[in-house]
Amino acid sequence: MQSRYDIAIVGGGAAGVLAAIQLLRQARGPLAIALLEPAPRLAEGVAYSTARGEHLLNVPTGRMSALPEQPEDFLDWLATRPGHADQPREALAAGFAPRRDYAHYLRERLRQAMAASPARLDVVPHRAGALLRADGGWTIEAGPERIAARRVLLAAGNAPRPLPVRGSGALAKPRLIDAWDYDGIAAIGPEASVCIVGTGLSMADALLTLAANGHRGQVHLLSRHGLLPLAHAPAHALDEGFEVESLHALGTRARLRAIRARVRDAGQHGLPWQGVMERLRPHGRALWRSLPAAEQRRFLRHARRAWDIHRHRVAPQVQAALQALHDSGRLHLHRARLDLAVAGQRCVQLGARTRDGRTLVLDVDHVVNATGLELRVQAMRNPLLDRLLGEGHACPGAHGIGLASDGDGRLLDADRRPQDDLRVIGSLRIGQDWETIAVPELRMQAEAVARDWLTPKTARPGLCAAVRRAAATPPR
Ligand SMILES: Cc1cc2nc3c(=O)[nH]c(=O)nc-3n(C[C@H](O)[C@H](O)[C@H](O)COP(=O)(O)OP(=O)(O)OC[C@H]3O[C@@H](n4cnc5c(N)ncnc54)[C@H](O)[C@@H]3O)c2cc1C
Repeated sequence: MQSRYDIAIVGGGAAGVLAAIQLLRQARGPLAIALLEPAPRLAEGVAYSTARGEHLLNVPTGRMSALPEQPEDFLDWLATRPGHADQPREALAAGFAPRRDYAHYLRERLRQAMAASPARLDVVPHRAGALLRADGGWTIEAGPERIAARRVLLAAGNAPRPLPVRGSGALAKPRLIDAWDYDGIAAIGPEASVCIVGTGLSMADALLTLAANGHRGQVHLLSRHGLLPLAHAPAHALDEGFEVESLHALGTRARLRAIRARVRDAGQHGLPWQGVMERLRPHGRALWRSLPAAEQRRFLRHARRAWDIHRHRVAPQVQAALQALHDSGRLHLHRARLDLAVAGQRCVQLGARTRDGRTLVLDVDHVVNATGLELRVQAMRNPLLDRLLGEGHACPGAHGIGLASDGDGRLLDADRRPQDDLRVIGSLRIGQDWETIAVPELRMQAEAVARDWLTPKTARPGLCAAVRRAAATPPR
């Protein structure tokens, strides 16, 4: 028999749970919601499934609320947790909590929303394999279940990039370990030699786990650009006077020049560069959309890495730990492009080409794939997305990244018609929005989709006052 729902959410990571919380909170009468998630625990997904205390949020506590209408909600929650009661509120707000705490927080808020709502939420513990158009909505095939839903919200989240190198297909765990396989990284022996491919935030996670486990072997870090994560400024800084709208008329190069000039100016007034980035943060989507397609391509080709390390920063204590490892002499940073990986009996041999044309050969016990998110939807190897594309219910987003959607997350079909009953939130909006991966954006998207779907069209007053205020304030 087919179960019937008003709304089905596909994906129960942070984005799907934020959407479920909003639907439950905004429902004014009976509403049946299905949340499809194959993982054993909700709200974890890739980012918050780590059980390791050294893996911290990369956004300060004071900005991680699940609720746009209550910007300090995560701070309030954390303040009641054991160990935090005596901490001054300001220090707690500016600090970086363990990521595992964040999943607990989201689950607690979900439970409370379920208890207080006239709506009903059923968790379906299966992966959605297909979405088929049916009378008045959709049929979802999920394991043994068939679910009918009038509307579907895709919150399928982040996909890992496969190691982009010849020979990697022959490598398997434990020789090749994904940086998001937190237990796999923790199982690396203390004397083992390791090469981490990719030098972003997931590399930092892997290094911190090695350090926490007393690792003493050699560690090679390898990436094409050799750029390491940068840290947040110790205190919140915001360049209030920067007129961000003035950037909209500029192309990529001129924008970056203007931002660098602003950073120099800010520095002369004692404001760290992070203050300029924080000022840009809530304007990420508008800045991206105001770039013509050719300029977006230029950004992706030439500026993305440098942008990422300035925009996605680590907690100061994480950077201090990385520095200590570097100073120990066991960390070797290589600016090189990985060409080949050969699996041997007892080790892996990696061949890479350095920027100055030399060949670099590394023999290591383990290779860690920390190359980050796969943005190209056709390379994500998600059967559901493949079928949506194949059957014309979706098409790739701008530059082939994410799925094409309108400004409110309505998926565009193959004829580029927006579908009101099939929406997307989270990183799959990246081609359209660029700034769409972290909680400050996810909670706004979740709130907006719930409001759009649940408010009768004639009675819609626009953004409620609290949300409007939150949207207008600096990044949270
Ligand atoms: C290592 C890491 C650390 C991060 N740290 C932070 C941070 O500190 N602060 C911050 O704001 N952001 C952070 N982020 C950004 C992060 O992307 C978001 O905060 C958030 O976790 C994204 O949630 P999501 O639900 O969109 O995606 P995901 O976490 O990827 O969850 C997607 C879920 O969808 C499910 N799913 C996929 N396909 C299907 C299907 N066909 N059927 C059913 N279910 C499906 C998956 O099982 C998964 O549980 C981090 C990201 C990473 C990778």
